[in-house]
Amino acid sequence: MTEPLLQHLTPDELELWAQGLLPAARDIHLAQCAECRALGERERKLFRELARLPRFAPEFGFVERVMGRVRIPSPSNEFENR
Ligand SMILES: [Zn+2]
Repeated sequence: MTEPLLQHLTPDELELWAQGLLPAARDIHLAQCAECRALGERERKLFRELARLPRFAPEFGFVERVMGRVRIPSPSNEFENR
């Protein structure tokens, strides 16, 4: 008999856990398995670091710049002639 609680989490499941999306059934394994918890913590840390990278946030500034340009009255021909 295979006990599902004893199966280690897959990398996909660890990623889900890092995002707080892991099903509760698998969460139980994590609570009991230090190995998976360590891997999960590492995944979560990586996830947070990625979220903090500047290249994940540039869309705010980018959108504002584009909107700023749209508002400036300029001959629309310039865009079509290029
Ligand atoms: Zn495990």
